[in-house]
Amino acid sequence: MELRAAVRSLAEKEIAPYAAEVDEDSRFPQEALTALNASGFNAVHIPEEFAGQGADAVSACVVIEEVARVDASASLIPAVNKLGTQPILLSGSEQVKKLVLPAIAAGEMASYALSEREAGSDTASMRVRARLSGDEWVLNGTKCWITNAGVSSWYTVMAVTDPAAEKKADGISAFVVHADDPGFSVGAKERKLGIKGSPTCEIHFEDCVIPGDRIVGEPGTGLRTALRTLDHTRPTIGAQALGIAQGALDAALGYVKERRQFGRAVGEFQGVQFMLADMGTKIEAARHLVYASAAASERGDARASFMASAAKSYASDVAMAVTTDAVQLFGGAGYTRDFPVERMMRDAKITQIYEGTNQIQRLVMARQLLKG
Ligand SMILES: Cc1cc2nc3c(=O)[nH]c(=O)nc-3n(C[C@H](O)[C@H](O)[C@H](O)COP(=O)(O)OP(=O)(O)OC[C@H]3O[C@@H](n4cnc5c(N)ncnc54)[C@H](O)[C@@H]3O)c2cc1C
Repeated sequence: MELRAAVRSLAEKEIAPYAAEVDEDSRFPQEALTALNASGFNAVHIPEEFAGQGADAVSACVVIEEVARVDASASLIPAVNKLGTQPILLSGSEQVKKLVLPAIAAGEMASYALSEREAGSDTASMRVRARLSGDEWVLNGTKCWITNAGVSSWYTVMAVTDPAAEKKADGISAFVVHADDPGFSVGAKERKLGIKGSPTCEIHFEDCVIPGDRIVGEPGTGLRTALRTLDHTRPTIGAQALGIAQGALDAALGYVKERRQFGRAVGEFQGVQFMLADMGTKIEAARHLVYASAAASERGDARASFMASAAKSYASDVAMAVTTDAVQLFGGAGYTRDFPVERMMRDAKITQIYEGTNQIQRLVMARQLLKG
């Protein structure tokens, strides 16, 4: 596929050389952002009518996969640009779309703010509050774990607008907040196991005032929009996991051909070959599931939600298994920062946790199966 070749070439030339340093120094991959923006791979999903590329969901996955193959942190630029803007694409007014989407297509970044310290898997128990005051909304509270906070200029924020709603989910609305809005601030960076180049921070709202028309969809529909968004973006986390796994397998293949023990390359031992074959099989199976789930989300298939959870959980479990095996195949060298598989193993872990833990994915899938 031409798209894959183009992204791979860009990723290898402009992103891979900085991946180890970005991880070591826990710094934002600015070189990746510059390269992705210059080539238009920063947010390929934005429709042409909003000055974007209008790429389909499978193409967006291929971009994320190829960037993640060399640097998982950098792959969160296109992935979270999609996550932050998907609620707007699904439910935003024409005005909100025009305000945010062309800016993201042009290289600004978007974040998605659902989680709170005490409301992770149980999203409906969120506490951030938005009150209508005249024709403006006033937001108060703190969101946490916000990917790319501080770098993004736009934040899609879910907040409680009707605390008395009979069902908590019906009392939540979605808004877009700009980094320069009064009363908005970004907290300190979390110190993480992996994806160290992608800042993860709390964001604070202290009487943060935004215009009334910054609501995304009707009042009370925000959580449903936020969860529908995940049907479109869980395939992208699957793609990120897939890319990390492919990067680890490629590194391992290179190493076992070079490394010699007992007078021959370790890749000649059948015990090693069986590991490689299993790694390759798992990756290929994950790839099929990820693309099928992306296509299902694109065409609004009734099984899209099941497929998205299946792809995200399966591909992330594959990424964890394959990166762990890649470290194993490097022997002691794999345990050091001199080779990329150690970073890839640390980066893989988050894909089993965010956008809903893999336990939550299984709940979503089982619910769908039992519904029939
Ligand atoms: C690096 C990073 C980046 C993130 N980026 C974002 C972001 O950009 N935007 C955003 O909104 N959020 C983001 N998150 C938040 C992420 O989505 C949550 O951490 C995740 O959904 C889990 O919530 P929690 O951490 O509160 O875990 P908890 O909900 O406290 O879960 C703890 C454990 O209990 C299990 N568990 C919980 N409920 C159930 C259940 N019903 N059945 C079975 N097991 C259950 C979980 O699987 C987990 O193993 C990010 C998190 C991290 C670490």
